Amino acid sequence: MNHDELRDWSKRAADWGHAYHAGLRDRPVRAATTPGEIAAMLPPAPPEQAEAMETIFADFERIVPPGLTHWQHPRFFAYFPANAAPASMLAEQLANTIAAQGMLWQTSPALTEIEQVMMVWLREALGLGPGFTGTIHDSATTATLSAVLTMRERALDWKGIETGLSGQPPVRIYVSPEAHSSVDKAVRVAGIGQANLVRIPTDAHNAMKPGALAGAIAADRAAGFLPAGIVLVAGGTSIGAFDGIRDCLQVAQAEGLYTHVDAAWAGSAMICPEFRPLWDGVEGADSVVFNPHKWLGAQFDCAVQFLADPAPQVRTLGLRPVFLETLEHEEVVNFNEWTVPMGRRFRALKLWFLIRAYGLDGLRARIRDHVAWAEALCTDLAGIEGVEIVTGPSLSLFTFALTAGDAATEALLTRINEDGRVYLTQTRHDGRFVIRVQVGQFDCTREDVMTVAAVVRELLA
Ligand code: PLP
Repeated sequence: MNHDELRDWSKRAADWGHAYHAGLRDRPVRAATTPGEIAAMLPPAPPEQAEAMETIFADFERIVPPGLTHWQHPRFFAYFPANAAPASMLAEQLANTIAAQGMLWQTSPALTEIEQVMMVWLREALGLGPGFTGTIHDSATTATLSAVLTMRERALDWKGIETGLSGQPPVRIYVSPEAHSSVDKAVRVAGIGQANLVRIPTDAHNAMKPGALAGAIAADRAAGFLPAGIVLVAGGTSIGAFDGIRDCLQVAQAEGLYTHVDAAWAGSAMICPEFRPLWDGVEGADSVVFNPHKWLGAQFDCAVQFLADPAPQVRTLGLRPVFLETLEHEEVVNFNEWTVPMGRRFRALKLWFLIRAYGLDGLRARIRDHVAWAEALCTDLAGIEGVEIVTGPSLSLFTFALTAGDAATEALLTRINEDGRVYLTQTRHDGRFVIRVQVGQFDCTREDVMTVAAVVRELLA
């Protein structure tokens, strides 16, 4: 394929994409294929000879859609959304077309400078204040890993990156049981070890107890451990829990610990001032991550990390071999020094297009609708006999179960997803198997949301 053919096929792909999105409501949300079914449709060996694009495209149309769970389906209420607002998709097409790699300022000044401006736009949009600067990662997992590595190195006075961890005291990181598994992954990858991730008990609101946090840190110091940092939850994956950030940060500051707030999902809601009390005190954190690719509408992937001071993270992750020096411009920011991977995509472009094409007001309106519709759905479900709301709405996330118990709830979830009109997933809360509902799909309507109750009512009748 050459660039002339690419132009023609891009138009064909755009037409295909338009029809795909227009027809999503008619498709079951979750893929119904069995494991191995899609792989079996592909030849086991690659072709030696070039194939016609007509054949390749026909195979794409035949093989791929049946194997898709449709994340952009308006009745996708599982996990958290991975939204792709049309304007952000357009930006992704352009970024793919340009195919620039933004590891250094000079490898494409537009990539670095638009990213810097987007960090300012988003910081202001979220009400974080001028103390923060930021960068874009592929995922919240990588941002959290970067923060955990920084906690470790700051506590070890950067000896870990020089001489390794052997001979150093065991580094300790503190989280609540509501923290995402990406924190577990971070301590494993960072060589801190799962055993040194300390789970602090929570109160009746599923928030970390600051007193217990202070007690655990003191006990660890007395036992010869090295407390390094705290990861706080602002909108947990399971039930949308929030730690009391202000109180926990007070403990962190008294103890000299580095702090990272995981607002991967709920951060987007903070463009609405009325939700900001949920993360009250966040401006005192060292690091905050949120995923515009979840609720805001930026096409996956796009995770923003705000940093009160980038210096400790850059000291931890940054390397500047001669081949990466920016010879005539030492003053510029080279974002590869802020992140784990060296190479970086032009992710800022989709933020620029997204924010401009819908305006902050348009994005706020969607989030407010989602929260209101989640509340309405929760009320509707609560009225169905045998259904119990287990955790009420935290923003647009709540959980429910059948009073008949775990087995009945699990069987209901299986039937809901086999039905296909909506897609829900599960979690465990207080030992119970519960069904999660989150409302956040960019194109969903109130009617789409209320379909969940209609399906449950029908299946329980
Ligand atoms: N943190 C929270 C609260 C999440 O809900 C998720 C994913 O859903 C993550 C972190 C990990 O996000 P990512 O897929 O960007 O690594």
